Amino acid sequence: MSQWDLSGHLDALKQVHLYRSRETIEGPQGSQVQLNGKSFDNFSSNDYLGLANHPDVIKAFTTAAEKYGVGAGSAHLICGHSYEHHALEEELAGFTGRQRALVFSTGYMANLGVISTLVQKGDAVFQDKLNHASLIDGGLISGANFRRYPHNGLDRLQQLVEKSNYDKKLIVTDGVFSMDGDEAKIIELASLAAQSKSMLMVDDAHGLGVLGDNGGGLLEKHGLGEKQVPVLMATLGKSLGTAGAFIAGSDALIETLIQRARTYIYTTAMPPAVMAATRVSLKLCQQECWRREKLVSLVAQFRRGAGQLGLNLLPSETPIQAVILGTNEAVIKANVQLREKGMLVGAIRHPTVPKGSERLRITFSATHTESQVTAMLQALESVVT
Ligand SMILES: *Cc1c(COP(=O)(O)O)cnc(C)c1O
Repeated sequence: MSQWDLSGHLDALKQVHLYRSRETIEGPQGSQVQLNGKSFDNFSSNDYLGLANHPDVIKAFTTAAEKYGVGAGSAHLICGHSYEHHALEEELAGFTGRQRALVFSTGYMANLGVISTLVQKGDAVFQDKLNHASLIDGGLISGANFRRYPHNGLDRLQQLVEKSNYDKKLIVTDGVFSMDGDEAKIIELASLAAQSKSMLMVDDAHGLGVLGDNGGGLLEKHGLGEKQVPVLMATLGKSLGTAGAFIAGSDALIETLIQRARTYIYTTAMPPAVMAATRVSLKLCQQECWRREKLVSLVAQFRRGAGQLGLNLLPSETPIQAVILGTNEAVIKANVQLREKGMLVGAIRHPTVPKGSERLRITFSATHTESQVTAMLQALESVVT
């Protein structure tokens, strides 16, 4: 096959069951979605709190669009930084208990921007093997010495950090791991970082909104502040139901990012209406604790049922539940059969996850009903047991 035989390479992907295709959703996000004119129970979204289609969030969005128009017009440092961006940043700082917050257009860009600003060639970065691709890519483009440690492997991390003779060391972890649903050993990580004078960064894309009494995420759950975890990143497109991401931390950190993070500086600001909508979903996230309580009970119902069916579940208390099937082929087959039963789940294959751990990724939202979970379990019983 020649290097530029793109169709040949695409065929090769199909042969190893790695070809991906997109779905065209025909209506709003929710616990049910429309696809090809058919309705599906949706167990594949990251809209954990069910805010993506909340009437108050939509109203804030349309009201702001009428006031500000749609496009932000330019980057933040030119004339794109609106009152809505600024107000959301102040509210996010308050919510996370940090001095300041800075909004980025996507989580991918936030991670690239912050890591490559904090470390460069001559520094070192340490990352959990299961970290999100955007963290890995941030580490790579930073040019820093890049070491990965086994998932939650604190002993190995300690060895790596101790024998590293770089002056500036950054430890980076997901808060809740996006494909497994388990949580970082954050207390241990924070003390290791403190002992070794490393900087600690947590990407809590899947913890924010879901964990902690007020939805403050993994760090709220464990009472960890800016001192223990100086760099907190989270996204707006998951629990908060809108789009974008933010970094929260000290005044000096945020000011450094404004001056130096290329993915912040050289890109058009998000539409102000997205920020206005997020301000409302942030309020709902804090006020409506029933959404988190509902998630806890749906997840418990699912794990009980899955246990009775003898499914191979990974340990996770979060709305991300992984059913291990073990091959790409098994995952694709189960996915197709679940579809026929009107169920939409994530089909996660190698190389996104290690060989042998190919899985269905089933996610829950506060807008699911108990009977939807029961139907999901029945579908799994007939498809994978
Ligand atoms: C989704 C996700 C991101 C990327 O965020 P986007 O806003 O979708 O670009 C980064 N980190 C983690 C852990 C994520 O799950």
